[in-house]
Amino acid sequence: MTLEVVVAGLTPLSSCDWPGRLVATVFLQGCPWRCTYCHNAAILDPRAPGQVPWQDVLDLLARRRGLLDGLVFSGGEPTRQAALVGAAADVRAAGFGVGLHTSGAYPSRLPALLPLVDWVGFDVKAPARLYRAVTRVGGPTTSADATFASLRLVLDSGVDVEVRTTVDPTVMGPDAVAELTEALSGLGVRRHVLQQVRADGTTDEYRAALAAC
Ligand code: SF4
Repeated sequence: MTLEVVVAGLTPLSSCDWPGRLVATVFLQGCPWRCTYCHNAAILDPRAPGQVPWQDVLDLLARRRGLLDGLVFSGGEPTRQAALVGAAADVRAAGFGVGLHTSGAYPSRLPALLPLVDWVGFDVKAPARLYRAVTRVGGPTTSADATFASLRLVLDSGVDVEVRTTVDPTVMGPDAVAELTEALSGLGVRRHVLQQVRADGTTDEYRAALAAC
């Protein structure tokens, strides 16, 4: 039996998930991290069942041929799922572009995946020394090591990439933001977008911490 991606949700039309493109977006179930500001708690559990059969996504693309430019895989952390490579190949074979939102948690998945991807929105949480304060998992540098290994692979692949950072003010002040911007520039990042954290959908504890900043 072919492994199928576990899809938690589908947005049939988006003009902002891949800048400059009209796309549909699928949200793949599961993420190994527990970021302070995550507003997607329901999508984190890797054992939760899918809500949208993959065939329904392919049927949507077939109906929207000529209207959509592509499909974005978002999450959760879409690279968590081994079936993502086959799903990206399906989208390419149907004649659509493939976009990917990732935080880079699974660098070993990227060599097979990146040749099938046209654009990456790559999430970098913080300077490496502050990573765990945002992702709240693993050893002091576990999540940072994965992210920066993935970022290297994405940059070296030559795929179009926009690096984004949601600035968590409970972890990062202006000096840390400047430190990160400089570190990314040193790695060869040309486009780095800072995003403001959103309180909606986060925990009461986090909203209180934000209010105290
Ligand atoms: S990487 Fe994204 S989905 Fe995963 S916990 Fe962090 S904010 Fe939530």
